[in-house]
Amino acid sequence: MIITRFAPSPTGYLHLGNARTAIFSYLFARHHKGKFILRIEDTDLERSTKEFEESIIEDLKWLGIDWDEFYRQSERFDIYREYAQRLLDSGHAYACFCTSEELEEERRIAQEKGIAYRYSGKCRHLTKDEVEKFKKEGRPYTIRFRVPDGRVVVFEDLIKGHIAINVDDFGDFVIVRSDGTPTYNFVVVVDDALMGVTHVVRGEDHIPNTPKQILIYEALGFKVPLFAHLPVILGPDRSKLSKRHGAVSVRNYREEGYLSEAMFNYLCLLGWSPPEEGREIFSKEELINLFDLSAVNSAPAIFDKEKLRWMNGVYIRQILDLDTLAERIKPFFHKAGYSFEDDYLKKVLEKARDSFSTFSEAVERLRPFFADPEEFSEEAKAILETENSYKALSFVLSKLEEAQEISGQWIKEVAKQAQKDLGIKAKDFWHALRACLTGSLEGVGVDILFDVLPKDKVVQRINKVLL
Ligand code: GLU
Repeated sequence: MIITRFAPSPTGYLHLGNARTAIFSYLFARHHKGKFILRIEDTDLERSTKEFEESIIEDLKWLGIDWDEFYRQSERFDIYREYAQRLLDSGHAYACFCTSEELEEERRIAQEKGIAYRYSGKCRHLTKDEVEKFKKEGRPYTIRFRVPDGRVVVFEDLIKGHIAINVDDFGDFVIVRSDGTPTYNFVVVVDDALMGVTHVVRGEDHIPNTPKQILIYEALGFKVPLFAHLPVILGPDRSKLSKRHGAVSVRNYREEGYLSEAMFNYLCLLGWSPPEEGREIFSKEELINLFDLSAVNSAPAIFDKEKLRWMNGVYIRQILDLDTLAERIKPFFHKAGYSFEDDYLKKVLEKARDSFSTFSEAVERLRPFFADPEEFSEEAKAILETENSYKALSFVLSKLEEAQEISGQWIKEVAKQAQKDLGIKAKDFWHALRACLTGSLEGVGVDILFDVLPKDKVVQRINKVLL
């Protein structure tokens, strides 16, 4: 059975790149009817927080990702201790009593010589008695993995292909810190092995760690899993996607009013191309059916926010049914202080769902359906001061008094009459109405406002401007 995992460190919000890793790992497992594991990698107790753990879990759920097993590394220290002991017993690891001053000095010398730093291996050859003695003295120590000399570790990455790395540059690396906490490269191996992970899907920034991990697999007698290192995600300027490029956490997009389905769909296409060329909109089920790790591009993917926005708009206009759309958008409108009945909201959305691409845009663009204009833009003010506007608005007001019901069609008829009776140009007529009803010259069509706004609201807004 295929078993994959997503292993976030709870040291920040879920980054778009990590979300894509989670999605690919998830899709691969689900495609093969395998198992998907969520493992919180919180062995770095100083940098990990419960809040970040919760936010990552919440964001994964929001994206529609579910898992079959859940683990938290901070609850597994006993297991790691046992495996560290095994490595000590077999001689693959040793206690290192070097102080931070000594290590600092080694680093300084390397720097002076202009060579890359690696641990000198000073404690490699301590005798058993020396080790016992130092421990008795209460000297703090780390546990280091003994890296074999002259070894080239080779693996076939499912995405990156053949990779060969000479381990000579590593130096013996720490697997347990002096405070007793184990390090990433060590616990990731113990966990992946014990959890039966068959395919390690993660970001390519972990490629340099992989040989270290392979050495530990071998030392512990574990089967080495397959690796699939995903290419990095770049910003539009082709540098690594970071805060400089704007919002980079799933949470940012969620708060901006992006739909989880659109995010999921978009992130899937960052580096993976579905077999059917040209098609871009896929449901989660379709993606599970189609996903294939070997079709992931090994070159970096470029994050294009405009494309994501476009896709979100497609989901808003064409994919979500009206009831779902209304339910999802409600919290955004409530937060903006709009109050409304459900039926009214649906009526607005039915008419105006093609005028925005995110919910935060909807809050702005649909404001005239929920609130009288508070401020008028300079252009709107200028328009409303003209003679033509006064005439047009008075004309509409007189027609409103006679009208039983109003609609977009109705106001179009009124516009024609105004042109005929008063000689007002169509453009001036619509500008006057738009400025009066919305306070601005941009936004949703005036005819749509007449389709949805109650007649007395329109009368009220016109009166307010005229009086
Ligand atoms: N905790 C690591 C990270 O967040 C996981 C790396 C891995 O998947 O092995 O980068």
